[in-house]
Amino acid sequence: MATLDSLRRLRPLWVQRIANMAARGATVRATFLQELERFFNLLEQSIETGDPAWMDGLLYDWASTPPLTVAQEKRYILPQLLNQMLMALIDLARENLREKEALGVIHVALPVFTYCIEKATRFEMESRLERAMKELGAVQEELERLERTKSNFISVAAHELKTPLTLIEGYTAMMRDTVQNLSPQASHFLQGIYSGIRRLRQIVDDMIDVSLIDTNMLKLNLQPVQLKTLFGLLKAELDATFQERKQTFEIHPFNGMNEWLIGDPERLYQAFRNVLLNAIKYTPDGGKITVDGRLLPGFVEVTIADTGIGIAPEDQTLIFEKFTALGSAQLHSSGKTKFKGGGPGLGLPIARGIIEAHGGTIWVVSEGYDEEKCPGSTFHILLPLQSNAENARLAQLLNAQSEQERK
Ligand code: ADP
Repeated sequence: MATLDSLRRLRPLWVQRIANMAARGATVRATFLQELERFFNLLEQSIETGDPAWMDGLLYDWASTPPLTVAQEKRYILPQLLNQMLMALIDLARENLREKEALGVIHVALPVFTYCIEKATRFEMESRLERAMKELGAVQEELERLERTKSNFISVAAHELKTPLTLIEGYTAMMRDTVQNLSPQASHFLQGIYSGIRRLRQIVDDMIDVSLIDTNMLKLNLQPVQLKTLFGLLKAELDATFQERKQTFEIHPFNGMNEWLIGDPERLYQAFRNVLLNAIKYTPDGGKITVDGRLLPGFVEVTIADTGIGIAPEDQTLIFEKFTALGSAQLHSSGKTKFKGGGPGLGLPIARGIIEAHGGTIWVVSEGYDEEKCPGSTFHILLPLQSNAENARLAQLLNAQSEQERK
């Protein structure tokens, strides 16, 4: 075919022009020249057979491993390079062939180049996507590794702290018991040491709980439990604090309060206590904290509402992650609210871990954070009402409990 002969005549010029334009350095150019020759062979084959799919293999190679060309210096975009290759062919045809011949060459080459550009765009997108997915996978793995390291660190640090803490506690107790006639001032100091130890022990215990939750090692001592009992005990424990803060604490009797749930009473107590302590902490003096709830199909929902400073929507998920005491907590020092700063940010993650270990969920609803207007927050806790049939041993326990109640 005459047009193919005309095209072949352009080949050495075209290869040279593209190589000069795109490739820098002798070794780079040698490799690139080979690739251009390969391209031209396939171009001729495609035109001869009328099937541009001959180009697929080369395009795939070029898209997945950019040839050693300008790629090394500039950002390599294959469809652009193909476009330049087409332009060079058109220019060379115009410069070196008679008009009719040139038009013939352009006419047969154009569809193949169009096909190449479309195909290259797709291959390149796919290979970029593949690279991005690989990078994402690596980042994900790294994040998971860091998370494991963090959990290990918390666990090791907590256990390491526990030993000296026990020593300090022991020696302080010995001092109190053996030193006779302590002056009022020394007794006062001793009290200070004790309250420091208590606080530190609480933090260390929380750190251990968080690492148990993180590693799915939280053991539940499951037995029948009623919310009525738990909230009765919580009220008794926290009454003095409510009085000190002049806060009203109300427990509305609700459907579900007397239901027998299957749970770990101590852990559930701890979860509700953490939420209540926060409600106290983040509610101004004179505020109100209300416990309410309802029975839903298969679940009992408990709500703990306060009239406190509220929580911004963007923080409402974050606060259940460990070590997320909100930055603004440092500002919580007004006389009105009588609290200073937050804790280490472990209370809610522990509450969430415990509730989730029971097959439940916890979330918060609040209009937003405002220390002046105090929009309040409502924590919702959903706990499953397991059917007796699910677990024979628990069914037995429940029956025994109901028997006792009837007597
Ligand atoms: P912390 O030890 O800081 O209290 P938590 O995990 O218990 O840690 O709570 C995390 C953060 O959530 C707190 O620092 C506080 O900013 C916010 N928060 C929790 N409960 C309330 C509430 N009832 N009202 C307003 N903010 C709250």
